[in-house]
Amino acid sequence: MKKKVAVIGAGVGGLSTAARLARSGFQVEVFEKLAKCGGRNHLLESGGFKFDMGPSFVLMPDFFEEVFSYCNEDIGDYLDFRKLDVNYKIFFPDGKALTIYSDNLKTKEELERIEKGSPASYDRFIKKTEEFYALVRPLLFKCFSWKQLFNPGYWPLLTKLKPFDSYWGIASKFFKTEKLRYAFTFEAMFMGVSPYQAPGFYSIITYADQVQKIYHPMGGMYQIPLALEKMAKKFGAEFYYNTEVSKVYKTEDGIWLESEKGTTLYDYAVVNADYCYAQESILGRRLPDYRYSCSVFLIYLGLKQKIPGLEHHNLFFSGDLNKNLNQIFKDSEFPDDPSFYIHVPTVTDPKLAPEGKEIVYILIPVANLKNCPDTTKNHQERLRKNVFRKIKEITGEDLEPLIEVEHRFYPEDFIKSYNIKNGATFGLAHNLMQSAFFRPANFDNKIKGLFFAGASTQPGGGLPVVIASSRIVADLIRGN
Ligand SMILES: Cc1cc2nc3c(=O)[nH]c(=O)nc-3n(C[C@H](O)[C@H](O)[C@H](O)COP(=O)(O)OP(=O)(O)OC[C@H]3O[C@@H](n4cnc5c(N)ncnc54)[C@H](O)[C@@H]3O)c2cc1C
Repeated sequence: MKKKVAVIGAGVGGLSTAARLARSGFQVEVFEKLAKCGGRNHLLESGGFKFDMGPSFVLMPDFFEEVFSYCNEDIGDYLDFRKLDVNYKIFFPDGKALTIYSDNLKTKEELERIEKGSPASYDRFIKKTEEFYALVRPLLFKCFSWKQLFNPGYWPLLTKLKPFDSYWGIASKFFKTEKLRYAFTFEAMFMGVSPYQAPGFYSIITYADQVQKIYHPMGGMYQIPLALEKMAKKFGAEFYYNTEVSKVYKTEDGIWLESEKGTTLYDYAVVNADYCYAQESILGRRLPDYRYSCSVFLIYLGLKQKIPGLEHHNLFFSGDLNKNLNQIFKDSEFPDDPSFYIHVPTVTDPKLAPEGKEIVYILIPVANLKNCPDTTKNHQERLRKNVFRKIKEITGEDLEPLIEVEHRFYPEDFIKSYNIKNGATFGLAHNLMQSAFFRPANFDNKIKGLFFAGASTQPGGGLPVVIASSRIVADLIRGN
C-alpha cells in the first residue's frame, strides 16, 4: 500500500513537496486554507488586470528546473522563462539613475559614470560573490542541526564564508561610493533584512542576478504555482482548498490532522504553512525569541495607459537610506522618506493587462507587526503621495488620473490571508543567528514523521530556496 503524506499549505514550498512525493509513489493530500494555490505567490485579477501579488523576480532558474527534473518532467512544458535585457533600474535621490543590464559590458559603462574605476571593482566583487555561491549552493540542499557546528569538517567552510562580515561590509570592500554599495546590497531587502545585518554570504543573490541574470515567466509569476500544482496533480496528488488545518498530533497509529475535512491519518505530514504560526497554532508550542523579517505595504495599480520611463524592475532609494533602514529594522517607525520598489511586468508581458494599459505594483518596506505597534493605515496616504511624487519627477506622469483599478495589501493582510506570524512578509529574519545551522530544521524533533518546508525553515526564504527546502523534505521522507 502507498504511504500517505499530508501537506499543509499550497505555497510554492508545499506544491513542490507534493509534486516530488507524488512522483516518488506516495499518496499525497494537500490542504490549503485559501481557495487557490500559491500562498504568498498569489494572483489578484481585477478589471482585466492580472496582478502578481508577491514575488516578481525569478532568480536562480536552475532551482526551478531542478524540481521538474526531479519529477522527470521538462520545465519547458510548463513554464516559459524569458531573460530580461534590463535587470533593473535604480533611481537615486539626487536624480541620477543607474541601469543594470543583462549585458555586463553595458552595466560597466553605467558603473563608470557613477564611480570612476568601478568596472574593475565590479569584476572583483562578482568574483567574490561567485566564491560564496560555489560554497553555499551545495549547502542549500542540506538540513543542518546546530550540533553540526561542533563537527570540525565544517570549520574551514565557516572560515571561508566569513559569517561575521555583513553584506554591506563585503560590498564596501569593493565600492567607494554609497550609491554602488547600496546598488549591490539592496537585494538583502528581498530577504526582509537590512544589508547592514545580513551576513556577507547572502551576496550570492547579487551573484545570481548579475551572473545568472533575471527571468520573467510569461503569463506572470502566478504561472509558477500553477505549473507545480499541475505537475503534482499529474502524479496523483489531491488538493483540498478552503480547508484550514487546525491541529497535528501523533499516536502510535501515525500522524493525525484535524481540519474542516475531519480528522485524518497519515504516515507523514509536511507543514508548509508559516513555521512560526504552525508551531504556535497547529502544534500548540511556545516559540523562542525569534527575529522576524520586515513587512511590506503594497499598492497594485491598473493604469488606463502605458507610462514611459520605467523598466520592468525599478528601485527608488530614500534620500537618507541609512535612516530609512534604521526606521524599518531598528526603530520600527514608518519611514519619512521611504525607499520603494516598482514592478511593471507589462513592460515584458503586456497581456497581463488589457491592451494599451499598464500594471504598476509598488512595494514599500515597513517594520513588522511585532516591532511596530502603529498601523500602516495611519500612514498610507502620506507614503502613497511620496511614491507618486517621485514617479512624477522621474517619468513626468501623474499617476492619480490614470488609475483605473487600485488595491492595497497591508502587513495585517499577511496574517489574515496566509497566517504569517507578525505579518513578517519574508518570515523569520535572515540574520546570522537564524541562518544555516541556526534556522529551524526541516524535520521535527518531537514528532517523528513531521517535516517543514518553506521560507522560515532551512535553507530560507525566496522562491528558489523554498523549492530547495522541498527537496530536503522529499529526500528525508524517501529515506525514512
Ligand atoms: C511581496 C513579496 C515579494 C517577494 N518577492 C520575491 C521575489 O521577487 N523573488 C523571490 O524569489 N521571492 C520573493 N518573495 C518571497 C517568496 O514569495 C516566498 O519566500 C515564498 O513564496 C514562500 O513560499 P512558502 O511555500 O514558504 O510559503 P507560503 O507562500 O506562505 O505558503 C504557505 C501556504 O500555507 C497556507 N496555510 C497557512 N496556514 C494554513 C493552515 N492552517 N491550513 C492550511 N493551509 C494553511 C497559506 O494560505 C499559504 O498558501 C516575495 C514575497 C512577498 C510576499
